[in-house]
Amino acid sequence: MGTYDYDLFVIGAGSGGVRASRVAASHGAKVAICENYRVGGTCVIRGCIPKKLMTYAAHYAEDFEDAEAYGWTVGPRSFSWSKLIANKDTEIDRLNKIYLRLLADAGVECIEGTGRLVDPHTVEIDGRAVTAKTILVATGGWPTMPDVPGIEHAVSSNEVFHLAEQPRRVVVVGGGYIACEFAGIFNGLGSEVVQLYRRAQVLRGFDDDVRNTLAQEARKKGVDIRVETNVSRIDKVGSQLQVTCTTGAVIETDLVLYATGRAPNTKGLGLEEAGVKLNEGGAVAVDEWSRTSVGNIYAVGDVTDRLNLTPVALNEGLAFAETVFGGNNRKMDHRNVAHAVFSQPNVSCVGLSEADARTEFGDVDIYKSTFRGLKHTLTGRDEKTMMKIVVDAASQRVVGIHMVGPEAAEIVQGLAIAVKMGATKAQLDATVGIHPTAAEEFVTMRQKFVEPAAKAAE
Ligand code: FAD
Repeated sequence: MGTYDYDLFVIGAGSGGVRASRVAASHGAKVAICENYRVGGTCVIRGCIPKKLMTYAAHYAEDFEDAEAYGWTVGPRSFSWSKLIANKDTEIDRLNKIYLRLLADAGVECIEGTGRLVDPHTVEIDGRAVTAKTILVATGGWPTMPDVPGIEHAVSSNEVFHLAEQPRRVVVVGGGYIACEFAGIFNGLGSEVVQLYRRAQVLRGFDDDVRNTLAQEARKKGVDIRVETNVSRIDKVGSQLQVTCTTGAVIETDLVLYATGRAPNTKGLGLEEAGVKLNEGGAVAVDEWSRTSVGNIYAVGDVTDRLNLTPVALNEGLAFAETVFGGNNRKMDHRNVAHAVFSQPNVSCVGLSEADARTEFGDVDIYKSTFRGLKHTLTGRDEKTMMKIVVDAASQRVVGIHMVGPEAAEIVQGLAIAVKMGATKAQLDATVGIHPTAAEEFVTMRQKFVEPAAKAAE
């Protein structure tokens, strides 16, 4: 190890940093990690986990209603925001302790404080300098707030998990996955929700059928989605907020939640001083091994702005530690990573959208099915499930799977294995379904989808 204090020093104890430090330590490296908020990072403390718990809470509203069609009499019901927040916080505390214990058990030294690079081998943590042969930057990302008059009255996803009271009315600004998820959460919990998005349809980058289906279903459930609408100003009027839209509309509300984007956490990290190059978007530029422009400094997770998902940060951290400390060269494969939106209803996808597949392969076969789930034949709830398979026409390989509907993520996770293995449509067809499920639709769609216009021309 030469003259360094550590073999590896990690800045940021979130998904990527914790995984990398534990794996490096398991290969015998002397490792320390610093964290300036809470070990566990965005996913555990203010991201995936608290958000998913809140989506469960939101869904009970429909479950109570639906139960009556199955013979249940559901008594008077009420919802306690403070109880949900307290129970969620207890769970987050438990997970935070587990993360701390995992680091301790792995022999990783955990240092509280803000890390900053001084030179390629030195990190200063609140005035204390330590040296390391290898340094990993895993500082994640942070919500960005646009420069709109009155933005100080709005909150980001960081604060929304700690509101003292449930807002009766909420304006959610943004059309990405976090915006759609919180629109669904507040709507399910009984708040009146208006979702504003400046472009033509929510979930930019997703398959168009997914985008249209989610918008249609969320509106049916009560979310007032207004597209091609932005905020021109926010005013505090007495105890409430007034949102003036670019369309001229004025909305009175109790909370404005901005979910319009996140930026890599690179400010004040000393990256440029140490010679670490950033890309145009301000993320740490890395190669396929997560190595930066400085040979002994690596970066993983959201700070590199590749695919900003927890399992991706975990796998990038694992690949880095296996390669550098385990003698087992390993790269993260960013293709065909399944992902989900825990909106109401859920969305999940793996592979390419129809539009991207057409760009990449030219000729594609589309299989599509929209139906009402068996459960709702009794409840009468008008909720549609949409499933779609995108196939490269020449090779017959399945290159995209998309679903909007209950448990979409649980269903698509399994199908992602088939897509990753290069399954063909014929292999999906040869798979016998589980009956009665919604998932069986993915192995029983036989008719290619033909656009109505093309059909008329046939
Ligand atoms: P992080 O987990 O953000 O960890 C970085 C850590 O570094 C933080 O703990 C931070 O405090 C610390 N830090 C920063 N700067 C310093 C410094 N100078 N010194 C010391 N410590 C520092 N992903 C999914 O896969 N599924 C989901 O459902 C999902 N939902 C999400 C919901 C929300 C509301 C948000 C915001 C994100 C969600 N994500 C989800 C994304 C996911 O949380 C991130 O992709 C993941 O946490 C990235 O891990 P990371 O290790 O790169 O960074």
